[in-house]
Amino acid sequence: MPNPISRRKFLGAASTVAVSSLSSSASAKTALATTTGQTPEASPTAERIVDMHVHFDVTVPSFVSDLLKICGSLNLTACVLTPFSSRKIVAEAARQHPSQIVPFGYLDLDAPDVVQQVEEFHALGYRGLGELEFVKKPFNDPSYFPVYELANRYAWIVLFHTGIVLLKKFGEPEDVASGWMRPIHLEEIARRFPKITVLGAHCGNPEYEWAAEIARWNPNVFFDLSGSSLTKMRERLVDFRKIFWWSGSSWRTETPNNDPSAYSKIVFGSDVKLGEIESVVHQYQAMFDACDVPPQTRRMIMGGTLANMLKLPE
Ligand SMILES: [Zn+2]
Repeated sequence: MPNPISRRKFLGAASTVAVSSLSSSASAKTALATTTGQTPEASPTAERIVDMHVHFDVTVPSFVSDLLKICGSLNLTACVLTPFSSRKIVAEAARQHPSQIVPFGYLDLDAPDVVQQVEEFHALGYRGLGELEFVKKPFNDPSYFPVYELANRYAWIVLFHTGIVLLKKFGEPEDVASGWMRPIHLEEIARRFPKITVLGAHCGNPEYEWAAEIARWNPNVFFDLSGSSLTKMRERLVDFRKIFWWSGSSWRTETPNNDPSAYSKIVFGSDVKLGEIESVVHQYQAMFDACDVPPQTRRMIMGGTLANMLKLPE
């Protein structure tokens, strides 16, 4: 099983730096309740956030209770990306806290029993798969189709890692490469399996243009902006206008709420440790401000789109 800790530590440090440099521009109202730190409960006016990208941390025994505290303070619902070994703990937590925890199955597409794992996740009430990553072949390799066929039958959301991938240990051979997780591979999956909602993590970093174009033409494709992109581009967030360029044009396809904004193809995902989720919220808001993302689109990105897809209870 991949060790997610080193990545989370690395990304967490990166986003903390970014937030301190952006704090003056983090103005969106939705952050108000999260930034004061004065109340443990969410402000009644705080908009719900749905985070597509929360990795279950097997090394933290108090993970579920820690997460529930964050959910309360940020008015957050977390899609918890859960290793097969922890499937029952998270399934039970989701049953008890359906407004805060949505279970997603984290598995290795190359595992010999991957199809059985998918079926068991489904039987336990899981709502999708992800983050699929560290694959040994391109995402669109036909050997992975049995998994996608099941996900299509279940009309699941599937979160795929896209773009640059970490190296777990320097100086040792590793059978993993970014080129097998390019956003362009997601187009074939989205078209062959149209009942899957294909979510690409990290917006293809650095292949943002491919990611956005595939999202533009395929109603069932969305991306999150987790990872290093919002940090890397913090001084040039306006560049996202060039990537999500088609707002209001006749080129758009079907979007949530028929939103004409190109940014409606983005969803919120943090991919950091629990204590750092709020900093990623600020990073998203800084991008929204830089690109004049309309208020109703911000609400959909931060939670509305995923809440509708997942039919979340209040
Ligand atoms: Zn990833």
